[in-house]
Amino acid sequence: MKKFDAVVLCCGAKNARGLNGLEAKGDNGIWFAVDFLKSTTKALLNGPFDEKSVEELEKNGGFISAKGKHVVIVGGGDTGNDCIGTCVRHGAASVTALEMMPQPPKERKASNPWPQWPKVLKTDYGHEEAAYVYGSDPRIFETTVKEGHYDKAGHLKEIVISKVAFKDGKLELVKGSEQTLPCELLLIAAGFVGCEKYVPDNFGVSLSNRNTVLTEADHFATSVKGVFTAGDMHRGQSLVVWGVAEGRACAREVDEYLMGYSNL
Ligand SMILES: Cc1cc2nc3c(=O)[nH]c(=O)nc-3n(C[C@H](O)[C@H](O)[C@H](O)COP(=O)(O)OP(=O)(O)OC[C@H]3O[C@@H](n4cnc5c(N)ncnc54)[C@H](O)[C@@H]3O)c2cc1C
Repeated sequence: MKKFDAVVLCCGAKNARGLNGLEAKGDNGIWFAVDFLKSTTKALLNGPFDEKSVEELEKNGGFISAKGKHVVIVGGGDTGNDCIGTCVRHGAASVTALEMMPQPPKERKASNPWPQWPKVLKTDYGHEEAAYVYGSDPRIFETTVKEGHYDKAGHLKEIVISKVAFKDGKLELVKGSEQTLPCELLLIAAGFVGCEKYVPDNFGVSLSNRNTVLTEADHFATSVKGVFTAGDMHRGQSLVVWGVAEGRACAREVDEYLMGYSNL
């Protein structure tokens, strides 16, 4: 801050929600979804993406492959769907996706009329590709992963899954519903819990109770003078259009702060 008159923090919101007892260490076969997806995108962009180059990259730790593996993805959102599609394209032996919520209805319920957001089953490209390749929709609803079993080298070889049910507003495992699945690659796509803390901590800015950088509503100035924020780091995991809109509005606020007015 000695060198700059204004700083905008826009580092995204990649603090992923973990799973109890299943640490995403990578070398144990458990990864956070974004790390897995990023490794594929990076390998594609850097190219070449032929079998030999990718195998070489994987040996050097620069690529996470799902090829020939039984994959389980935990989390049924958009990120989970991207993982399904990517694993299918890698040539996974099988792909199973666990979602703890009940399967939504195929059509709107009378209690969910237009113009409310339609709470219906969404079938995305990943689900369609998996159904085409493996013969059925990969999703299992009202289910979560209970524990992992590892080989002697500490690598995941199978997982125990369990049905879940809401009891007194709390999600509980259903006793006796456990099932064991082969699994050499477990991808955690269970949502995000705000931004990584080290940047806000270094700048001394306040955080919201959602772990995003705090500002007044519809503004971008943080609790520290001259420090602004925009995008996912400000509003939590969102959409590209919001990132663009916030970037523009934030630039205007910074301009006003520096100049006393803005034509942006
Ligand atoms: C798997 C997945 C799929 C998605 N699909 C869609 C989609 O289809 N459509 C859509 O609209 N949105 C999608 N989103 C959401 C979208 O990606 C985000 O809303 C958007 O990218 C937010 O933009 P941002 O600039 O705020 O943050 P980001 O795009 O996350 O950019 C933050 C950047 O800051 C960098 N950074 C972090 N820390 C530091 C640091 N200390 N120093 C320097 N740089 C740093 C990061 O490397 C990153 O490049 C998806 C998100 C995920 C995770």
